Amino acid sequence: MSTLLAPSTSTTAVRPDTPLASLLEAFRGLAVRHPELLELSLGEIGGAGEGGAIVRYTWRGPRGGGDRLKLALLAGIHGDEPAGGWALLDFAAALLAEPERGVGFEFVFYPCVNPVGLNRGTRTNAAGLDLNREFWRGSAQPEVRLLERELANEVFDGIIALHADDTSHGLYGYARGRLLAEELLRPALAAAAEVIPANHDPVIDGFRAEFGLIRDCFCGVLSAPPEQRPQPFEIIFETPALAPLPAQRAATVRALHSVTATYRRFISYAAGL
Ligand SMILES: [Zn+2]
Repeated sequence: MSTLLAPSTSTTAVRPDTPLASLLEAFRGLAVRHPELLELSLGEIGGAGEGGAIVRYTWRGPRGGGDRLKLALLAGIHGDEPAGGWALLDFAAALLAEPERGVGFEFVFYPCVNPVGLNRGTRTNAAGLDLNREFWRGSAQPEVRLLERELANEVFDGIIALHADDTSHGLYGYARGRLLAEELLRPALAAAAEVIPANHDPVIDGFRAEFGLIRDCFCGVLSAPPEQRPQPFEIIFETPALAPLPAQRAATVRALHSVTATYRRFISYAAGL
């Protein structure tokens, strides 16, 4: 009899429960409750079982004075740093519950940009590469090609990448490109430090740091196209990976609210000049 095979007939496309599946399931749940949160799959990465799609979720806040400012919030380029993706879920839920906090912005959330890494619990992708050293240098990695195309198409005003560092005892961040990034990151670190203290070491991750703020950076990190003008502000926000996950999520959400609020103040000030 063929009954042994019966259960698999309609479920062959359904992946087993993976870390990526749980994260995207949670986002999907939010999108079902709030249809204004739009889901788009950018493409599948990796084979069946351990791979999955890079998915983005977009939400446009109420209109402000001028054009909306478009922010990319990306998590999980290092697969063994799951806090960022869950923090994006919390931040998106907070915005949808209180849309006035997102006035004048369009948010594009990327909960996981390294699906295989997240599912395997590794920093690297399937090819064993640290994707955060591969950008804008002709990389053949599918995640990088897909994200480079996305970043070139979308022309973001600001890019925030979320990370967790298991060698750091506190929060810190990289401010890249425009001076604005520093002006946004400093109060964001202060806001997040209400949950997890910042790392005040003079050197963090091999770079000179001032109260958790680093201006230098590695080459090849996930960033805007080098030729984009004007360049967006770019922030890399790092939580201490050994801190409890709920604390990392809460600290990151505070940082993101802070960046949004400070950026809005800058823009309205500039508009009033
Ligand atoms: Zn990282």
